Order: sequence, then C-alpha cells, then structure tokens
Amino acid sequence: MTSFSLRQVKLRPGEQYRDELEVELPAFEFGGQRYVPVPEQVPAAFEITRANTGTVFSLQFTARLHGPCYRCLDDAVLEVPISAREYQAEDPEDEQMQTQYVVGANLDVSQWARDAVALALPEQILCRPDCAGLCSVCGKNLNDEPHTHEEEHGDPRWAALEALREER
Ligand SMILES: [Zn+2]
Ligand SMILES: [Zn+2]
Repeated sequence: MTSFSLRQVKLRPGEQYRDELEVELPAFEFGGQRYVPVPEQVPAAFEITRANTGTVFSLQFTARLHGPCYRCLDDAVLEVPISAREYQAEDPEDEQMQTQYVVGANLDVSQWARDAVALALPEQILCRPDCAGLCSVCGKNLNDEPHTHEEEHGDPRWAALEALREER
C-alpha cells in the first residue's frame, strides 16, 4: 500500500511540491473478469500545490492491465492513462471540499490510484478495437478464422438441394 505522509511537506500558498511515487495497483474485477496490472507498481508523478484556501493534489501515471478480451476472451492489454486531481479545503467545516483520500496526516495514494483507474476503464476491454469476437454458431474465434455459416436448418425447400450437395 502506498501512503504519503503529509507531515513531511510544509508549503506556503503558491508553493508546490513534486515527487515521484511508486503506486501499487490491485487486480480489477470488471464485467465478471479479472484484470491484473503489469507491473503492479507503477511510477507516478505526484504534486502538491498549496492555494490560499486549500491544497491541490495531483497524480499522473499509466496503468497497464492484462486480462481477457470482452468479445473473444483472448489476451487483451489495456493502457489506462491517469491524470487525477483532488482538493482539500483548509477549512474543515467545508465538507464538500474535503478529499476522502486524506486520512489524518496521510494521503492514501493507493486507494486514490485504484479508484481513478476504475473510473477510467472503458465500457469493454478488447484485444483490439475491431475484434470480431467469437462465432455465435460454433464458438470459434472469428479473428483467427473469419467465416460465416449457411442457414443449414432454414427453409425446408432447400433440404432436397442440401441432400444433393452432400452426396457429391
Ligand atoms: Zn478480442
Ligand atoms: Zn462459426
């Protein structure tokens, strides 16, 4: 778990602190499938900017997730660029403007990073944007074997013709 102690940084309004943090990412459950971050630890650019009435935290990193393609179940790799911001108002009465990731004197960077990735996931994780998926008739991967099926059990009038064809 990556947590950042805010005690170590004392900023005056207008001042900024920059650091590079190693952020640990969990595996994500998505659409009933499991997506694993590779690597689990990613370097993140972290900034704290002190404003007059509060503090702005920003975090930037790229997560790489490995898991099954939504359509064909083959391996898919997804790069998720993250650029997240949180604001913590100076005034503790201002509950709307308190980030949930500051707990005591610590910023819970892991939890923040994982929520940011979860929010940034696309609707479907695909092996490639034009993945053809699995055949609904035979279940084969249409990327490897593009094909269609003829209407084999369709119109009975064709049955005689089918029979002729099979004899050949
Ligand atoms: Zn696919
Ligand atoms: Zn098929």
